[in-house]
Amino acid sequence: MAIRISRALYDRLLVEAAADPAREICGLLFGTDERIEATEPAANVAADPARWFEVDPVALFAAIRAERAGGPRLLGHYHSHPSGVAMPSAQDAAAAFDAGRLWLILGGGEALVWRAVPGGPVQGAFEPVRLVVD
Ligand SMILES: [Zn+2]
Repeated sequence: MAIRISRALYDRLLVEAAADPAREICGLLFGTDERIEATEPAANVAADPARWFEVDPVALFAAIRAERAGGPRLLGHYHSHPSGVAMPSAQDAAAAFDAGRLWLILGGGEALVWRAVPGGPVQGAFEPVRLVVD
């Protein structure tokens, strides 16, 4: 299982995360089964954004509605771990109700992609997806 992303988009996500080192940044991922084609920053509305993220539900539901109306396909979302690694945390696993969606996590100067899978091998909630930067 692999998904591709352009070098420009990958670097933009790293810059976006690095620009906000005190908070988890987050946003939405759009594209196809083969490629993340676009990203859209969203507000992190978590009560404690230094430690957790919650994609602004207004942005999330707008994207879901647009997808149903024939708009860009929503692949999942991204967020950062400002002082951590790009692996799902136990807290991420506890929130991974969105089976099949991609979770792109930024941390430690890299981005890794995970798919939410109930009972998956990582934290019991995710499987790794190889990210090809081209
Ligand atoms: Zn996380």
